[in-house]
Amino acid sequence: MEIDDSLRQNTTVAYISMEIGMDSNIPTYSGGLGVLSGDTVRSAADLEIPMVAVCLCYSSGYFYQLFDETGEQKEKEVEWNFFYEFDKVEKPICIKIENKNVKVSAWLYKVIGQSGHILPIYLLTTDIDGNEDWMKKMTGSLYDSTSKWNRIVQEIILGIGGVRLLNSLGYNNIKTYHLNEGHGSFATIELFNMFGGDIEKVKSSVAFTTHTPVPAGHDRFDQSLVKKVFESRIPKEILKLGEDNGQFNMTRLGMNLSKYRNGVSKKHAEITKKMFPQYEIDYITNGIHLPFWVSKPISQIFDKKWPNWTANPIVLQNAIELDDLDLFDAHIENKFGLISYQKGHSWNLLDEELITIGFARRFSTYKRAVLIFHDIDRLGKICKGNVQFIFAGKAHPKDQAGKDFIKKIYESGEYLYNNYGVKVVLMENYNMDLSQMLVSGCDIWLNTPERYREASGTSGMKAALNGVLNLSIQDGWWLEGYKMNSMAGWSIGPNDSNPEDPALSNNWEIDAKAFYDILENEVIPTYLNHDEWLFRCKNAISLAAYFNTHRMVEEYADKAYNLKRQKPWKYGN
Ligand SMILES: *Cc1c(COP(=O)(O)O)cnc(C)c1O
Repeated sequence: MEIDDSLRQNTTVAYISMEIGMDSNIPTYSGGLGVLSGDTVRSAADLEIPMVAVCLCYSSGYFYQLFDETGEQKEKEVEWNFFYEFDKVEKPICIKIENKNVKVSAWLYKVIGQSGHILPIYLLTTDIDGNEDWMKKMTGSLYDSTSKWNRIVQEIILGIGGVRLLNSLGYNNIKTYHLNEGHGSFATIELFNMFGGDIEKVKSSVAFTTHTPVPAGHDRFDQSLVKKVFESRIPKEILKLGEDNGQFNMTRLGMNLSKYRNGVSKKHAEITKKMFPQYEIDYITNGIHLPFWVSKPISQIFDKKWPNWTANPIVLQNAIELDDLDLFDAHIENKFGLISYQKGHSWNLLDEELITIGFARRFSTYKRAVLIFHDIDRLGKICKGNVQFIFAGKAHPKDQAGKDFIKKIYESGEYLYNNYGVKVVLMENYNMDLSQMLVSGCDIWLNTPERYREASGTSGMKAALNGVLNLSIQDGWWLEGYKMNSMAGWSIGPNDSNPEDPALSNNWEIDAKAFYDILENEVIPTYLNHDEWLFRCKNAISLAAYFNTHRMVEEYADKAYNLKRQKPWKYGN
């Protein structure tokens, strides 16, 4: 299938993202942001949104994760070869960095929607003939943390290179450049030049989505670095619009130069408004691409009941009508599948009979992966003979505190096993494939972040879709999900009543105790009562009617892209 001129002419939305998780084995993502972008383009293709996407092609990926026998994370560069999978775009563009001309080319990856619509993704690369060796490394690895210089260069390639490449390829009808996080904000410089310095015109063609309420998650560069890489080529107006206490802030630039700004859950938008009070900030709650994340056994029972559910996920609101026995069988198939996979990858073998609690996410400290070990003997006593745990996740190579959490999980696991026979296993190299198995094969999906630091979270949505119950602090999407249906899982600790109180938002004592109480008094007794458990599983599934990227992309189409859609979707809330 070709990308023809009419497709280029009809394309009005450009989605610019540092990560896009197209496939588990294509290393263009590190975590939630990339998985969300992947789900976004999958839904956009299904819904025939006239979108083109831009990302970078990382020649050594993110990293492959291993653990040594003490639980120490080891990182390996990913060796991969995209030459056989993509079409290379013929004519490179040129970007000036310092006083050098850097050639940028792109690989083309096509996302094919349900009815055959093509959504092109261009993966920019400097690893091409004609560039000097040091230039070829510019698109080497995702979030290369060796220097801020590398980082800013990658963002110049993404933002400026992205817009320039689309122009050179004949995408001349883009009405909205959707900057998915501040990494792409330099796109505004190219637009500023394209529109002859007309700031209003730039603004009217940009939509900006922010993805983290954690201040350190917003890219900032020293002004001197910005001036060094751009020399005098950065317009004064742009420099001013990114100004933030003597630094250059990519989020601020994106917010200042956009017509529409949003956070990715209701609470996240509230927190973002506090960080950036001078802007209007809407919210569009994240979702997941349901056909991508549904397990085979679960999709079979959906297909049987609602043959058209992937095109019209609203029918999942009626999940309560699913047959108990079908659902039970599907879940057991998933659980056995996960456990047999686990047995092939570990010396510590899990048990099919026990309640299996999963926790998988990046090991940033705010996610508090080790909260449940706070009173480890109480945990051991409750779990003995009842419960086992499975963990997975990567710590950023530079995040020692995150790596220490991984070691703590190892050590706590040994203690629990030696003293209570309770198993805690940690799986290597969390990626989308492993995620698919975990979110469908566990019984319980655990999340224990410090409150109001989880922008949205999406793994819990994947669990719910597969009938796995969330046991989670109310933050991000789960604040909304639990409110919508409190039978879809459990909420840990104090709820939303006083978001300002740090003593409540990050109190390990209170949250750990709440976790133990729920586990002991609710989760374990409910598990022993099949009917009640299955009733909850069905309630969990019903959340997927809302928490999906079809609904989400339609919201972007309406609010951020101003597309007139034929069939606006209606949800019951
Ligand atoms: C879904 C997913 C995430 C994001 O989930 P969170 O709930 O935000 O942690 C991260 N990494 C992978 C591999 C995923 O599949």
